[in-house]
Amino acid sequence: MLNIVIFGAPGSGKGTQSARIVEMYGINHISTGDVLRAEIKAGTELGRTAKGYIDQGQLLPDELIIDILASTLDSFKESKGVIFDGFPRTIAQAEALKKMLAERSQEVSVMLDLDVPEEELMTRLIKRGQESGRADDNEETIKKRLVVYHSQTSPLIDWYKNEGKYQHIQGVGTMEDIFAEISEVINKI
Ligand code: ADP
Repeated sequence: MLNIVIFGAPGSGKGTQSARIVEMYGINHISTGDVLRAEIKAGTELGRTAKGYIDQGQLLPDELIIDILASTLDSFKESKGVIFDGFPRTIAQAEALKKMLAERSQEVSVMLDLDVPEEELMTRLIKRGQESGRADDNEETIKKRLVVYHSQTSPLIDWYKNEGKYQHIQGVGTMEDIFAEISEVINKI
């Protein structure tokens, strides 16, 4: 089982690289952001709750997102592994993931930290907002998301170092260069 956590600040390229990993290694993909956007689009109650947090650049409560993750995980049958994109985003979520996988006699194989400088993140996200119209990709919300990333999410770097799972990836360069570095790491697992 290949269980990969793809990690990085908003705009670091997690979604782009996840798609390539899925294509190359045939594992399942969970993007909590995509799950929430689908719920918003479908107009569900969960979608309405999620929108309130997302538009403010805040994280959803841990219990809620952990439940969503667990049910998505259970929907995969005969999986070769999973790439977790946008989860975990807090220490509590990382602990929950560890427990969830342990209950299935599994563990995280590696955590890939896509490292991108802050100015580059801002530029990419503003451009994405203009092109895709994603409501949270506006300057004010992006700034809030980066603050949340630094305060609540980046402590996971040390947490995964401590678990012996951390792997730094240079997140600047062509999509191909970045993917080449990622696949070199995965091929060694
Ligand atoms: P990005 O990585 O570009 O910020 P995502 O698509 O992964 O975007 O997430 C968008 C928003 O969805 C987040 O800003 C947050 O509000 C919510 N969200 C996604 N994943 C989680 C999570 N694991 N915990 C809490 N909130 C989440």
